[in-house]
Amino acid sequence: MKIIVCVKQVPDTSGKVAVNADGTLDRASMQTIINPDDMNAVEAALALKDQLGCPVIAVSMGPPPAAGMLLELKAMGVDKAVLVSAREFGGSDTFATSQILAAAIKNLGVDKDDIIFCGRQAIDGDTAQVGPQIAEKLEIPQVSYVADIQKDGDTITVKRMLEDGYMTVQVQTPCLLTCIKELNTPRYMTIRGILDCDNEPVTVLDYNALKDDPLIEVDTIGLKGSPTNIYKSFTPPRKGSGMMLEGSGKETVEKLFGILSAKHII
Ligand SMILES: Cc1cc2nc3c(=O)[nH]c(=O)nc-3n(C[C@H](O)[C@H](O)[C@H](O)COP(=O)(O)OP(=O)(O)OC[C@H]3O[C@@H](n4cnc5c(N)ncnc54)[C@H](O)[C@@H]3O)c2cc1C
Repeated sequence: MKIIVCVKQVPDTSGKVAVNADGTLDRASMQTIINPDDMNAVEAALALKDQLGCPVIAVSMGPPPAAGMLLELKAMGVDKAVLVSAREFGGSDTFATSQILAAAIKNLGVDKDDIIFCGRQAIDGDTAQVGPQIAEKLEIPQVSYVADIQKDGDTITVKRMLEDGYMTVQVQTPCLLTCIKELNTPRYMTIRGILDCDNEPVTVLDYNALKDDPLIEVDTIGLKGSPTNIYKSFTPPRKGSGMMLEGSGKETVEKLFGILSAKHII
């Protein structure tokens, strides 16, 4: 049994968000972090490794600097780090990204007992589509919004978060689970992990390594193979200044109620 975790390096949107003149994100001038939901996915994988002794492989698609993030994961306890990186993969939308990641996962092999973890969503693209699309392309079952995991043989019982409660789902391996922050608290890197993390170099899967997979066709990967393209991006206009409502408490509540109803907010 092994666990594969998909991890994305994202701009730290809690800090300065820089935008180029053409409206695209100026990623080069922004700090990068490991996508927060992916940290929960890594912790879930490492907790299962603590329990069952299975190896954990982290896979990330991104430019070469993403290798640094993968070393941080090795310092936390991940056994192998794989960077999926090639010019041909650039500009991929979620369909193309999931094609490439599914091909990379097939390259690593998916066995009967294996589990693939993703975060629920990335804080930059914010679509929450990549995990479910990878599962579809690998033709394995998936459960999203996972808030608790119990493994018993090849059956996994998960608590899936809904808007107003939880659902308990049983799923057979191999399967893909997308993780949310309620699942756990990610651990820190260890001193031993930091000292050992670059003993084994990060494995790079480039275009040549994946090109023979049927998922890697010119018309299904990269900018040209993406069915969607970003036509325009812009910063939303700032909201206008606040409005003071004058009068007694009851009067102002009635006015506020009228304004919010007119805007269909309540
Ligand atoms: C319409 C559209 C057009 C786009 N065009 C471009 C473009 O031209 N150029 C460009 O650079 N980007 C483009 N993007 C962004 C790019 O598609 C996304 O960064 C990428 O597909 C991941 O989607 P997401 O960020 O929404 O991830 P989500 O679906 O929210 O991520 C869910 C989970 O999937 C996994 N995951 C996602 N991405 C990766 C990854 N790269 N490596 C490993 N695991 C991952 C993680 O576990 C993550 O938590 C476009 C996006 C859209 C929606």
